Amino acid sequence: MNRAPLRVAAAFEHAHGRPPAGVWAAPGRVNLIGEHTDYNDGLVLPFALPLRCSAAASPRADGIVTARSLQAPGPVRTGTSVQPGEVSGWAGYVVGVVWAMRVEGFEVPGLDVVVDSDVPLGAGLSSSAALECAAALAVNDVFGLDLASLELARIARRAENEFVGAPTGLMDQTVSMLAQEDHLLLIDHRSMAVEPIRVDLAAHGLALLIVDTRARHRNVDGGYGRRRAECAEAAQRLGVAALRDVDPQGIDAAMAQVADPVIGRRLRHVVTEIARVRSVVTSLRAGGDPRLIGPTLTESQVSMRDDFEISCPELDLAVEVALASGAHGARLTGGGFGGCTVALVDADTAGPIGAAVADAFASAGFRAPACSTARPAGGARRVR
Ligand code: ADP
Ligand code: MG
Repeated sequence: MNRAPLRVAAAFEHAHGRPPAGVWAAPGRVNLIGEHTDYNDGLVLPFALPLRCSAAASPRADGIVTARSLQAPGPVRTGTSVQPGEVSGWAGYVVGVVWAMRVEGFEVPGLDVVVDSDVPLGAGLSSSAALECAAALAVNDVFGLDLASLELARIARRAENEFVGAPTGLMDQTVSMLAQEDHLLLIDHRSMAVEPIRVDLAAHGLALLIVDTRARHRNVDGGYGRRRAECAEAAQRLGVAALRDVDPQGIDAAMAQVADPVIGRRLRHVVTEIARVRSVVTSLRAGGDPRLIGPTLTESQVSMRDDFEISCPELDLAVEVALASGAHGARLTGGGFGGCTVALVDADTAGPIGAAVADAFASAGFRAPACSTARPAGGARRVR
């Protein structure tokens, strides 16, 4: 049994002297394939982790928001009409959700929130979306706003972009809100259509091995911004609205047309990556052996390493060792420059493969990685 809702409810009661109105939980995520495609109007294929942020909350009538976290210092208490720039640090993700709802015209008088998350913070597994989405769902239910899941995802992203000031796409919040157990979530970033894609890993004796390399390279933020700018430049030179519109069959001609080897390689990553998402989805929809998608996952890693240049020695090593130890496919997941890898492995080999990666990290003088297996979990919901 998951005890997190009980623990966070008890923490709320300890802080406020009364039980919360309810407890809501939202998951972190791993992107199986489709990296840096979201801001190119492309496709992504993430799934939700069984790791979640739980938020215990009660309404307030006085305009104030208070926030506590079992993972961070606090409490944080706002004034009656909080504005961007007035709350720094972690509580901005929670207060930002209330701010965004108010800006959109919803009546959110005030809120007491206590959160407790088992998504590791800053590991690339989207603890930030888990936190925002748990808060957004809590606000929605506490004030009876009756917003659809995709609307809540959009509001959560607005909080992160405009209140916290982090430029992110909509993938993390969408999968955190809408994920289904034993499904990947195909998200089309042009139409924002979402489609759950069933994958019964257990029935095929498979598991997804997540390795947190614990590397956090400094160029994470700058690297992300530069890649976005390079993609925009490529689209402009090709005269297309977004790199989504470039035909993979004509990639060589498109690369010649952008006339810059670096921009050309960025272009090739995005265009082939979108094609790889399509190929994985086609294969899984056909209902065959999920092992067949393994090579495509590894091709994605090669593309990110050589063309998009967002890998790093720790990510490369985790992928190489996993493949050499029997993984069917492996790649970095998330923005790159550190964070996690995901590998498709036979379930009974997950332990030995994780151990092999840990040994290789020790030999290389890297920090000890954190390995775990995950089965695609469900999305945000009320848990108490
Ligand atoms: P990721 O989303 O990959 O974990 P981010 O940098 O986007 O990395 O978000 C991490 C930040 O989110 C943390 O530094 C912290 O500010 C905030 N955060 C997430 N979960 C919690 C939590 N349970 N308590 C406090 N802050 C949290
Ligand atoms: Mg994040």
